[in-house]
Amino acid sequence: MTSTQQYDALIIGGGPAGLMAAEQLSGNGFSVAVFERMPTVGRKFLRAGIGGLNITHSEAYETFMARYYQRSTDIEPLLRRFGPADLRQWCEELGIATFVGSSGRVFPEQMKAAPLLRRWLERLKRNGVTFHTRQRWLGWDESGEAVFETQGNSLKVSAGVTVLSLGGGSWRSLGSDGAWQEPLQARGIRCAPLRPSNCGFNYPWPAHMPSESFGSPLKHIGLSLGGWQQCGDALISRYGIEGGLIYAASHLLRDAIEQHGTCTVYWDLLPDRSKSELTSIINARKGDSVSNTLRKLGLVDGKLALLKALSEKQQMLNRRQLPALIKALPQTFHSTRPLDEAISTAGGVCFSELDESLMCHQYPGLFCAGEMLDWEAPTGGYLLTACFASGVAAGRGARNFLQAKR
Ligand SMILES: Cc1cc2nc3c(=O)[nH]c(=O)nc-3n(C[C@H](O)[C@H](O)[C@H](O)COP(=O)(O)OP(=O)(O)OC[C@H]3O[C@@H](n4cnc5c(N)ncnc54)[C@H](O)[C@@H]3O)c2cc1C
Repeated sequence: MTSTQQYDALIIGGGPAGLMAAEQLSGNGFSVAVFERMPTVGRKFLRAGIGGLNITHSEAYETFMARYYQRSTDIEPLLRRFGPADLRQWCEELGIATFVGSSGRVFPEQMKAAPLLRRWLERLKRNGVTFHTRQRWLGWDESGEAVFETQGNSLKVSAGVTVLSLGGGSWRSLGSDGAWQEPLQARGIRCAPLRPSNCGFNYPWPAHMPSESFGSPLKHIGLSLGGWQQCGDALISRYGIEGGLIYAASHLLRDAIEQHGTCTVYWDLLPDRSKSELTSIINARKGDSVSNTLRKLGLVDGKLALLKALSEKQQMLNRRQLPALIKALPQTFHSTRPLDEAISTAGGVCFSELDESLMCHQYPGLFCAGEMLDWEAPTGGYLLTACFASGVAAGRGARNFLQAKR
């Protein structure tokens, strides 16, 4: 059975980007409807709040902008209209105070996403936004109406403007699966292939690697590749390496693997000690066993397991080579973990397809926002900030478009 509905504004995808677009459109006398395939909206947003919702970052604007790598010039105009400070102000207006953590990252005081989302949805509903869940968007029919599949039935929706805010392609269980690429490409809207971002990397650990090493944290460890160098935390997992530090390098590593089939990184197991310092400590302990010396240096648990897994026994026993190994332990990767496991997605709708209000050049009245656009950023609040900002831009653009038609 097929039924038809009509709205002034149709938002497809109820994540932060879509809800922000709905907010810009609401309260202007337009009928605004959010359609979402899951039983509830904002599932990835809620998941992001587990362990602390890092909503934005407090660093200087120029530094912040550089986090969007080669897409900085596309994201900059969006953040100029709704940047990190505006986002914090917006949270305050919802009654959610934010604070700057020691790393400069910004969190809501309660740390979670749920209280913010609850208040936000209440406000949207008060402003007349309607929510239609368990509605999976499939594409458009030949007359341009949006087609939804809902529990075996089909629904068609016509609207004055449509905002697509369908998310990336990771964590499919939370709703965004990247299936939107097909209908968009069928319409001739160019999309860059979806790739994992902020992701882990596969590594075939040697058979002698003790199973208790899997899950071991690598605290305060250095990582370098090419000219890139950073200190942070990572994690040894059964399949390879996970965690914040490798996520931060993941765009470079992924790109290098795509280009060359392989990429070697170098771990600095003791970033606070220089190579010459290590040389004199190791030489001064000649009477001691190598394993005792390593333990005294603090190379235990995860770091020791990494050293043993990535070097030959002979290298470790060679006291002349040991300092160099500790300061630059090589590891060669050949592949990322699957897209579904990544924190976020690179690739998506190309900015060249969109005007400054994120409206498709080819389809006046069709807007795109959020992670489905072709950009990426590290973790640290940059992902959500750009999703909110693009939702604001698309929502305001859609509102102006409708108002111009009145
Ligand atoms: C574990 C984890 C932790 C994270 N932590 C942080 C963090 O602390 N800080 C940060 O900045 N970012 C974080 N992120 C990233 C952030 O959550 C996302 O970038 C953000 O949610 C993307 O917003 P969006 O609105 O573009 O897409 P989404 O939030 O993915 O929303 C898209 C919506 O569209 C719906 N949808 C998809 N396809 C269809 C369809 N065919 N029909 C109808 N509806 C559809 C989906 O169900 C979903 O509700 C985290 C991500 C993960 C996975």
